[in-house]
Amino acid sequence: MTEPTRRPATPLHTVVDRADPSGARFDRVDPSSALFDRALGAYLGLALGDALGATVEFMTPREIAHDFAARGGVHREIVGGGWLKLAPGQVTDDTTMSLALGDALLSGHAQRRPFDTGLIADAFVAWWRGKPVDCGNTCRRGIVRYLRDGSLQGPMADGDGGNGALMRNLPTALATLGDDEAFERVSLAQARITHHHPLSDAAVIGIGHLLRAQLNGVDADTMAQHTRAWAAANPAFRFEPYPGRASAYVVDTVQTVLHSFTQHKRFEDAVVFAVNRGEDADTTGALVGMLAGARCGARALPPRWLVRLQPQTLRAVTDQVGALLALSTPLTPASTAPP
Ligand SMILES: [Mg+2]
Repeated sequence: MTEPTRRPATPLHTVVDRADPSGARFDRVDPSSALFDRALGAYLGLALGDALGATVEFMTPREIAHDFAARGGVHREIVGGGWLKLAPGQVTDDTTMSLALGDALLSGHAQRRPFDTGLIADAFVAWWRGKPVDCGNTCRRGIVRYLRDGSLQGPMADGDGGNGALMRNLPTALATLGDDEAFERVSLAQARITHHHPLSDAAVIGIGHLLRAQLNGVDADTMAQHTRAWAAANPAFRFEPYPGRASAYVVDTVQTVLHSFTQHKRFEDAVVFAVNRGEDADTTGALVGMLAGARCGARALPPRWLVRLQPQTLRAVTDQVGALLALSTPLTPASTAPP
């Protein structure tokens, strides 16, 4: 006789169960906790939005409605394709650069060089040399600059106002939960390796703090207040009324992300709305997926999308969530020992 299970069987639960709560990487993080569920929801939500949106990247809303006319004019299934000719469930630079950053944060702690920006830059180089399926121009330019002269940031540049630093910052939020100073310092350091622009900086910090509030489990009213207060204090990003652009310019990206997130309470509805705006749909999808995934938790993500994600992505994301949250647990003897 088997005991009745309290959880529906989905691929996600298989992965979480395989993540071995007794293993060393999870020794300070309870994988059944609400925090772990929200953090995993955020990271898997990022990957799901990336995989869904990549199919329609660079298209206009009108083109999407035309191409998906047989499905009611709406793109809502993870099917791959797009200009990158992706396999179904394949993710792009949004997810793979996040994983590279997460690996760098983890290896920095393992080497007793916590939050070493040079290690992060080296990880971006390794990611780029691994021939990722795509790489934004500003990211490429920053990586090449680092390779050429070793500098960890370039001068402030008008052309650096894209969303490439914002799209990959989730691991920093997880690794520094409970330490706002470290969060802002590491976020700006990783961002400026490739993007040095005041609007990129503001978005990286602002969206990061909103994510952290959601990860900490604030209620819907409080989250809405935080979101509107941030937009009021940073008027370049005001999203009400919604201007309707979803390009890689970080202002357009943030407006689409916050509009989608606040107007659509269900994870799937929020992500589907964002990616059907077209343009930089993989990144808007990823960032809405991140916020909405933190709101609903991993166990509420759409199973039919999760089964589409490539297994190596599911596994890498799940492993990083536990390990990064463990870094954020403060004041253990191991983490406070001097180098
Ligand atoms: Mg992308």
